[in-house]
Amino acid sequence: MRPDPAPHLDRAKLLAARYKAAEARPYLASALYALTVVPSAGVRTMGVDRHWRCYVSPAFVEATEVVELAGVWIHEVAHLLRDHHGRAERLPAADQRDHVRVNIAQDCEINDDLLADGLALPEGRMEPRLYGLPTGGLFETYLPAIPPTPHGPDCGSGAHGNPGPWELGEGGPARVGPVEAEALRRQTAEAVRDHRRTRGRIPAGWARWAEELLEPTVDWRQALAGAVREAAAWAAGAVDYTYRRPSRRTPALGGRVVLPSLRRPLPRVAVVVDTSGSMGPDDLAAALAEVTGVLREVGVGGNRVAVLACDADVHAVTRVRSAGEVTLAGGGGTDMRVGIGAALALPDRPNMVVVLTDGYTPWPDETPSCRLIAALIGEDPPAPPSWVETVRVAGPGPA
Ligand SMILES: [Zn+2]
Repeated sequence: MRPDPAPHLDRAKLLAARYKAAEARPYLASALYALTVVPSAGVRTMGVDRHWRCYVSPAFVEATEVVELAGVWIHEVAHLLRDHHGRAERLPAADQRDHVRVNIAQDCEINDDLLADGLALPEGRMEPRLYGLPTGGLFETYLPAIPPTPHGPDCGSGAHGNPGPWELGEGGPARVGPVEAEALRRQTAEAVRDHRRTRGRIPAGWARWAEELLEPTVDWRQALAGAVREAAAWAAGAVDYTYRRPSRRTPALGGRVVLPSLRRPLPRVAVVVDTSGSMGPDDLAAALAEVTGVLREVGVGGNRVAVLACDADVHAVTRVRSAGEVTLAGGGGTDMRVGIGAALALPDRPNMVVVLTDGYTPWPDETPSCRLIAALIGEDPPAPPSWVETVRVAGPGPA
């Protein structure tokens, strides 16, 4: 736990600062106490890695007031709560390598909120106004306005993603894994929300962050409709073209014959419904109505859509006509691979399969030969493999 005891760290002062930070902003306490202190002469001030280890310069602690150290604690944990390293990985490659500018933009995203919140930070901190930028932005929007700079803050790979030479790397003690990190983010976001409900005052930046994390603003109906529409268009294009003689009864517009190649065959779709787990009947009905509604809109209806209920207990699959015929069993243990397999074995093999599930199911090992969309219903569904196109169907949510 103490790999480099050489520089003397005033641990009492540093931990007093963390206590002060947690006391002042109790909704951040769990996150603050999840950080492991690693003293290091290499780091200039304080910095974090993606495993929630906080590297601390003893000289910096010595030279900084407790009240400002408390602000720095909150600053460092904010890099991790806001998933700065994860978001940095999604930047274009050239920006990713430019970690000084990325770090400056990230510090701007954090510090304007901390200062508006009345927290003290040491001299030399970054702020949007230093670059003529408005407050309240995300670092991705600040980044283009940050000029090339040889030197700047270095808050570690937990911020910009590039490990410093003093970091312990992928091994080493006291690592917080990605799953635990995500749980800490959610737990903190919920604490922020509770704090706002019971005590009222939450800085705007944290409130926005928590709401976006707990209830992404993407409307699931829109997202699901978009995915279904897009997959239907893809499936229509992927259907084998068989030459069809135009029917004599096909009305020829203006005397012209409608060419067979212009007739695009409609895809066949299977909707597989998981009858187990935490899905409420209303959520299920809403999701099924959305899927079949969009399919009808694009001309896929009637016997081109098969709805299959995948029974939780007997792992049997039955064909149903509407959501009302689906009996929700409420137990766990569905295997949606059985439902997907049954769908693909239908006499009219579907080009596209939509799975409505609570997510607690194994998935096929590889892409089946059709478009697969998972609509995940319920609270905190586990994510399917990345190749499954996924839409999270959240209920109306708390008011
Ligand atoms: Zn920073």
